[in-house]
Parts: sequence; C-alpha cells; structure tokens
Amino acid sequence: MHKVYPFLLLLFLSFGANSASFGQAHKDFDLDRSLRIDFILTGEKIVQKAGLLRLKEEKYWSGTQHSLIWPFEYGTYQIEVYNDADKLIFKQGFSTLFEEWQSTGLPKYGAASFEQSYNIPYPKDDVRVKLLVRKGNDFEILNTWKINPSADNIIKESANQEAILIAGEGDYRNKLDLVFLADGYKASDLKKARKDAKRFGKFLFRNAPFNDYRKHINIWLVHKPSIENGVDEPCKGVFRKTALGSSFNTLNLKRYLSVQEFFKVKDVAAAAPYDFILVMVNTERYGGGGIFNHFSVFSADGPDAGKVFLHEFGHHFGALADEYFNSEVSYEDMLDTTIEPWQPNITTLVNFDGKWPHLIDDGVPVPTPRINKFEDKTGVFEGGAYLKKGVFSPAMDCRMRTNKAKGFCEVCQSGIEKMLLLYVSQNIE
Ligand SMILES: [Zn+2]
Repeated sequence: MHKVYPFLLLLFLSFGANSASFGQAHKDFDLDRSLRIDFILTGEKIVQKAGLLRLKEEKYWSGTQHSLIWPFEYGTYQIEVYNDADKLIFKQGFSTLFEEWQSTGLPKYGAASFEQSYNIPYPKDDVRVKLLVRKGNDFEILNTWKINPSADNIIKESANQEAILIAGEGDYRNKLDLVFLADGYKASDLKKARKDAKRFGKFLFRNAPFNDYRKHINIWLVHKPSIENGVDEPCKGVFRKTALGSSFNTLNLKRYLSVQEFFKVKDVAAAAPYDFILVMVNTERYGGGGIFNHFSVFSADGPDAGKVFLHEFGHHFGALADEYFNSEVSYEDMLDTTIEPWQPNITTLVNFDGKWPHLIDDGVPVPTPRINKFEDKTGVFEGGAYLKKGVFSPAMDCRMRTNKAKGFCEVCQSGIEKMLLLYVSQNIE
C-alpha cells in the first residue's frame, strides 16, 4: 500500500496548481448530465479526417471534477474543450480501433471509417471542442467544433434499458463507475448475465490494486436482450443476431474479439452512470480486446476468462501496453522506438526518467537481464509491445504479458492506481 503515497502527493500537487479550473467546473458545466459527441474517423494508413455526426444529451455525467483535466497525456487522441474566454476546461485522452487498423496491413485495401464517440459534462455556454491526434511527441489538431449546448438539433432521447447495480453503493459521484454490457444474452439470460457480471466483479476486487479501492468502485450491468446467443465468428461462417454485434476476427485477427458499432455500444451504456464500458460476450471461445479509454471486450466463459478480462481492462483503464513480444499478434508498426511511448509500463529508454526509475532497487542493473535472480524484481527487461528489441518492460512476467503471471507487476499497479485516484480521490482526501 505504501506505493500509493507518491502518487497521492503528485496528484494533489497538480490539483493544487489547477485549483482555479476545478473551482470553475460548476461554472462551465452542468455536472449532472453529459453531452455525447459522435464523430467518424476516416482515413488511410497515414492520413485521417474526423467529421462530426451528431450530438446527444445524456442523463449522466459520472466523472469527478478532478477527472476533467487529466494531469498526463495518455492515448493517441485527445479531446480538449475551451470555454468562450478560451480557457481550457476539459482535457482527456483515448485510443481507437482506427489507429490499430492503421498499424495493420489492411489499409492497402483502401480507406476505412470507424465510429467514435466521447462524452463531456454538459457545457452551460458555447464551447470549442478540439480533437487532436498524436504525431511523434506532439499532438496536431484534427478538427475543431464550435458547439452551442442549447441548439435545437441536440438529440434528447432517454435510454431504453435499465442499469442494474452489481457491486458498490451506487452513489456514482466521485466513484469509479464501470458498466458491463451483456452481449449475446437473450431476454431469458438475465440471470446468467447478472451471475457473470458478479463473477468478474469479484475477480477484479481480488486483484491489486483494485482490492484496495473496492468501496470506491460501482459495477453496473446493462442487459439489452440479444435475439440469439453467442457471438459472430466470421472465420467459421458463424453470424449471430446480438444486441451489440460483438465479433471475433476483428482486424483479421482470429482471437481479436471486439465491437465495431460503437454508437450502439454508447446507446446501451447510456442507461448507467459510467466512466468505463466493458462488453461481456456470452461465448466459451478464448479472446478479448481492450483499447485505452474506449472499451474492453471479453469472453464470459472462455479459458482463463477472468485473467483475459483483467488484461484487457489493463489496456482499457490503465493505459497499459502489452508486455509480450513473442506472439502471433503482431502489428506492423505499432511503436516508434526513437521516442518514449506514452504507455506507463513500457519504455524505449529515450526518456526513462519519466517512467519507473524510482521503483528500481539498488543493485538491479538497467537494462536488467531476464534471469531467475530478477524474477520478482522491478527492472527494465528488454522486450515488450510486440518487439523483442528496443522496447523494455518492468517485470519478467505480468498480467500484461501472460496468463501465468500472478497479477499486474508493480509498475502496472502504480499506473492503474494513478488513474483510479482521478476518479475516487475526493473520497480518499
Ligand atoms: Zn506490468
């Protein structure tokens, strides 16, 4: 538990520095509802464009005042919101399935489009919303939208489903709210959906660092009944009528279980107050996927289902990279080894000072050889993010590397904790 304190200190210092903007949160936003911004990312391997599709008013804003302006820059994309005095009032990062598509060989077949959506607390006055994308160490603007929050064309439709509280006290303000969406569960499968969601919730709370924050986390379930059980498995010619359209073979990768129709996902999730969306798929087949601050998708009954769920949630919530480097899953150019990656659990040693040097004991060499002696040590082990060379991971094994690992390594735990504190810090103060 002692590892928490440096982060507490760090976050409180940065909150202090930004205290004027936190005081202003209520002036700029109605924190009781949210504005959903739906847009499309279209492009090829290098070039991309973003176009606004629609705006929706949604019932809940579940984030904390502290989570409006993140003190770090995780993710390939960033949303920034400015008020009419040109003051930054919101800044968060996220990643996308589109950028994964760009890193595969698929763009050679032609351009593609992906559904994207982001919720911000409901602005009280006109705002400018900037969408930025990472270019090397910097961000460049993809588009800027001027939004009038009183415009007539903002869609106001209430969600069709109900949210069921699975774990926690349900007071969603200042808690971390996770919503599980059941896919491939028929109307008659509600009992199974509840049981499955409870099982994954329990697994989450058994694992560090989530075990220490149990009372600060709510888990919700939304069950939009599917017409058929199961999931699409295109390589077997299996297609099922499910509520969200979950599918294996995402980006032509057999084991990659994901959902492309993100607007459907957002429509269903809107029934609950949520900070992060987890799609639980009613299948026994192994697989899953997780994208930072977008969603995670996992098979409910596959082998090692709990571990896969946790691994994918590591990507989704903790901004963690895969620590494995010998795998059939390989992206052609996922990582530029000449710059320091933004993920907290890998380094190219280009700027290691910003990563985990404070967690390395005296006597542990950097880089650290992968030998038994360092099995339980935090170090800098070559290999990670699908690459054998030029990328380094903090531990010999970790939940972000294998299913055999005991849990998240120390660095991954710290990264997750940093994120947790943005959502629950007011309870801890
Ligand atoms: Zn790790």
